[in-house]
Amino acid sequence: MSKARAIGIDIGGTSLRAALVDSSGHILAREETATLAQAGPQAVVQQIADLVAKIAPDRTGITGAGISSPGPIDTERGLALGVPTLAGWSDIPIASMIQTALNLPVRLENDAIAAAIGEWKFGAGQGLSHLVYVTISTGIGGGVIADGKVLRGRMGMAGHIGHMTIERDGAPCACGNRGCWEAYASGTAFARRISPHFPNPKSAFAAAPSGDPRALQLVTEQADWLGIGIANLLHLFSPQTVILGGGIANGFPLLLPGITHRVQANAMPAFRDVPIVPAALGENAGLIGAAAMVM
Ligand SMILES: [Zn+2]
Repeated sequence: MSKARAIGIDIGGTSLRAALVDSSGHILAREETATLAQAGPQAVVQQIADLVAKIAPDRTGITGAGISSPGPIDTERGLALGVPTLAGWSDIPIASMIQTALNLPVRLENDAIAAAIGEWKFGAGQGLSHLVYVTISTGIGGGVIADGKVLRGRMGMAGHIGHMTIERDGAPCACGNRGCWEAYASGTAFARRISPHFPNPKSAFAAAPSGDPRALQLVTEQADWLGIGIANLLHLFSPQTVILGGGIANGFPLLLPGITHRVQANAMPAFRDVPIVPAALGENAGLIGAAAMVM
C-alpha cells in the first residue's frame, strides 16, 4: 500500500519552493523558482500551480497542500495582511486563490510556525511536547509547540519573537519599533556589525576558528545577543529544547558557547539545563512542515 502524500509550498520573498512529501517526511520531488515578488498575488499563484504540476502531475493519493507564507497573515481566514516582501499581498484571500488554482484542500501557515512543525514532526524536535524553534536570517521568526500542540494565538500570529523589546529606545527595527531582539540578533544586524571587517557572516565564521581576534569578538557579541533572547524564551515557554535554524545557524558550533554563557547568566537556575540544538531539516523545514499540516 502506498503512503499518504502531501504537497508543501514555501513562499519566500526571494525563492518559491514546492515539494511532494510522504508521511515519513521524505521529499519525493522538489522544485524551486525565483518568486515574482513584485508581480502581484495572481502571478505567484500561477507560479505555485506551475511548480505543483511539475512535482505532482498525477494527484492520486495527495491529501492536500500546505502553504508556508511570510507574515503577517491571518491563517484562520486565509488572508495575507500586507506582507512587506510581496507586492500587493494586502487583504488578499491567498488560501482560497491557491485552493482554486490547485483544486486541492489548502492550509495556510506562518512560515516560522510551518518550519517549527517540520522540526517537531521530522527533525530536531521529534517526540517532544514543548519546543521553541527560532529562525535567524534576515529577521528573526519563531514557532512554539506547547503541551503537544502548535501555539497559534489570535489570527495564527503567535511566535513573532523577533519583535520582543530587549532595549529601551534601542536600535530601529524593520517593524517600526525600537530595541527589538531582531534589531540586535538577526543576520542583518550581525552583517551590519561585521561589515567594517568582514564582507559577510560566512567569512567571519570562517576566520574565528583560526583565532582571528576581531572575528572571535564579533561572533561572541552575536552569540550574546542571541542568548539574551533565548533566555527570555526559556522563561516564557519552558521548552524541552530550543532549536535554532535559518542562515545564521550555519555558525552554530561557534555561537553555542557564547549563547550558553549568556543563558547561564540570565536564566533562572531551573531553566539552565535546556538543550539548545541546531535545526535538522535546514531550508526544507518549512516545506516538510507545511506538507505535514495537511497529512
Ligand atoms: Zn521589531
